[in-house]
Amino acid sequence: MDQKAIESAVTQLLRAIGEDPQRPGLKETPARVARMYAEVASSIGHQPEDFTNYKVFHVYDSPRMVTVQQIPFYSLCEHHLLPFFGEASVAYVPRDGQVIGLSKIPRLVDYVTRRPGMQERVTTDLVKELQRLLNPKGIAVVINARHMCMEMRGINKRGQFTYTSKFTGDFDRDQSLREEFLVQVRAHHANM
Ligand code: ZN
Repeated sequence: MDQKAIESAVTQLLRAIGEDPQRPGLKETPARVARMYAEVASSIGHQPEDFTNYKVFHVYDSPRMVTVQQIPFYSLCEHHLLPFFGEASVAYVPRDGQVIGLSKIPRLVDYVTRRPGMQERVTTDLVKELQRLLNPKGIAVVINARHMCMEMRGINKRGQFTYTSKFTGDFDRDQSLREEFLVQVRAHHANM
């Protein structure tokens, strides 16, 4: 990432909106913003294939489904570069006892959200990545998120959640499995 280019772009942006980039409160802002982008857009330039930080385990007598719920994430909408943030819940049905370390799923969520994007694509990217890593018998992903581009501008709807979901394989076919997952998600979502 080109930190110097970000700094000069932010300086120009501040000037363009009628601010004085030299005033004390803003003097350090371009450098801060550059450091911030290094963090919130750290996945850019990595192809999904680069996600190698995981290990697949084999368990005998594997559970019917593995669920990791309410994984918090923060991302930037690619249309306005404003934050959207919320929680992702992910489940899969292991194939042949193949499971992934539980902490890897939140990492996967970080991985697909640390760049400008869309909630819809985050949802399908999570499915794609899990498919690639584990080839499970089914995947469920549900995301609830708030979009600052809908709240602080545009339609100005405060506190609205956007819901997206994708179900593949067993979750697509088996309604009782899907329901078991969704009941858990709804129960926890009440606390959000
Ligand atoms: Zn937006």
